Amino acid sequence: MDKHRLKELASNPNHIVGISRYCDRWCERCPFTSRCLLYAMEKDDLLTNDTEAKDMQNEKFWKSISDNFKLAREMLKEDAKKFDIDIDNLPDDPELNKMMEERHEFAHNHPLSKKANHYLMTVHKWLKESKDLFEMKADEIQHKMLIDLKSEDPRKDVALIEDSVDIISWYFMQINVKLVRAFSSKYMDEAEGWDDEGEPKDSDGSAKVSLIGIDRSIAAWSILLNQFPEQENTILDMLVQLEVLRKGIEKEFPDARSFVRPGFDDGSR
Ligand code: SF4
Repeated sequence: MDKHRLKELASNPNHIVGISRYCDRWCERCPFTSRCLLYAMEKDDLLTNDTEAKDMQNEKFWKSISDNFKLAREMLKEDAKKFDIDIDNLPDDPELNKMMEERHEFAHNHPLSKKANHYLMTVHKWLKESKDLFEMKADEIQHKMLIDLKSEDPRKDVALIEDSVDIISWYFMQINVKLVRAFSSKYMDEAEGWDDEGEPKDSDGSAKVSLIGIDRSIAAWSILLNQFPEQENTILDMLVQLEVLRKGIEKEFPDARSFVRPGFDDGSR
């Protein structure tokens, strides 16, 4: 995509400003694709039409991401030039560098970020090791279909399991990423002494996205608990981890739940 095309896409008045800042990036399930600039850009870049480009492992996908970053940088450079700022030769600012390092430390080493990272690692391991579990369940369901148990609909179980695993797989990393961003923004708010009561804060918006991922994952794990009673201990451990995170985030970011995300929470359609 070139900058003229980007400007053309960006000038669409139907797009909701900032909608993709606090979404979960699950475009396949998003009701606002027609109102999202990011989605339009990705579609334009064939990221959503070209299966090759859609593949995260594929060189073409990363090239497209890299091209978009280069384009954004080029446009930023042009804008900065208007104010006599050369972004390629900005003076080194040791104080700013120190602040950035401290922010990184604070966000990544906060006990809640570490807990979210622990959850990420636990789920990653579980998903890797659960291939046999899913195969056994598939055999069991197939068996039920063969003997035609009229009182049950095994297809419903398949759909429920698939959907729950999709939800858990979608959010297990995002919970951590959004929480780290929330702490990173919180650090900046405090470093800059921002005490503007009532102003929406990026830290709350990011924490809200993390909380949404937690809520949906709790619901998904609860369904799996019914489907895989033999996994009770493991699944209960996941649920406890999520509950601890949920309570901790709500305490750290008391205004997160009431943060109004553009599009999703402001009554847009
Ligand atoms: S707002 Fe919706 S369409 Fe846009 S990036 Fe987020 S999930 Fe995708």
